[in-house]
Amino acid sequence: MTVSSTHSTHAGVAAYWLVGVDVGGTTVATVLLDEMFRAYGELSFPTDLSSPDATMLGIVAAIEQTLALAPDSARRLAAIGLGIPGQQDPAQGIVRIAVNLHWYDYPLVARLTARFGVPCVIENDVRAATLGVYRFDNPAGDQNLAYMSIGTGLATGVILEGKLLRGRHGLAGEFGHIIIDPNGPLCNCGARGCLETLVSATAVVRRAREAVATGAAGALASMESITARAVYDAAAAGDATAQRIVNEVGAELARALRSVVLAYDVDSVVLGGGVTRAGDRYLAPIIAEWRRQQETSALARAVLRPEILRIADPNRNLGAWGAAALAADLVTIR
Ligand SMILES: [Zn+2]
Repeated sequence: MTVSSTHSTHAGVAAYWLVGVDVGGTTVATVLLDEMFRAYGELSFPTDLSSPDATMLGIVAAIEQTLALAPDSARRLAAIGLGIPGQQDPAQGIVRIAVNLHWYDYPLVARLTARFGVPCVIENDVRAATLGVYRFDNPAGDQNLAYMSIGTGLATGVILEGKLLRGRHGLAGEFGHIIIDPNGPLCNCGARGCLETLVSATAVVRRAREAVATGAAGALASMESITARAVYDAAAAGDATAQRIVNEVGAELARALRSVVLAYDVDSVVLGGGVTRAGDRYLAPIIAEWRRQQETSALARAVLRPEILRIADPNRNLGAWGAAALAADLVTIR
């Protein structure tokens, strides 16, 4: 690895490296940024889940390999930021609950600080990604925005008046677990019919499997293994069952996004996660439902404007970028 022991200055500004890390249940993604937030490379590694400490050591190795991307030795590492799924305690530097990583009250910041000798910060992964969107994928400079990450689960982060919302328990914006259908599918949180059980990528796959199990013919029935993306592709290709699922999910999501818009009165709502790579095809059924609501509602016409909806930049890991931005706040050598 390449870590220099000196740092130079130019134009009176200290030069240094920031490493941002997005820790997921399958992948650890990193980015190396300089003090001006210029990127020098992004890497990804499989997450080592063999033990809690192995997961930590895997992250250490990922950070070391990321630092090796540094093209010169004029900078030194100044800080590390990490976005981690689950409940985090940024003030204490402790991962409270990260079920998929098997971390419970795990002192991650102390471990990494001991290893790298620089300040480290942790934050919930979706909240870090929300900051990444706000700082690096925000062409209009919106000061009020919501980011919804849609994957195996669903979570939302909110920036209000330029500030990341956390709340008493770090749960502000946890729309994935608002109950939509009390008789709906059982959620990982123990409740039934939470939003994420109805519209996450996992839910799209479940709906498709249920349709096949109850006799739906067509593209879904002939798939060896159904993925959410494949359902969206099949819908685009004209498959009636896939179109029904995509439209139902879009309408449900549109109603949830209405709640997000009304709760926070944001300038924009940004959707991210693998399934949103379907792009305009992902947004179309959401916008269709908003337009239906506009037909009878002046309130809907005022606040559910399709132009506030967009898909996050799929070409960079905004979670890792946002974590690096959090790390920058720790740097005091300017
Ligand atoms: Zn739930």
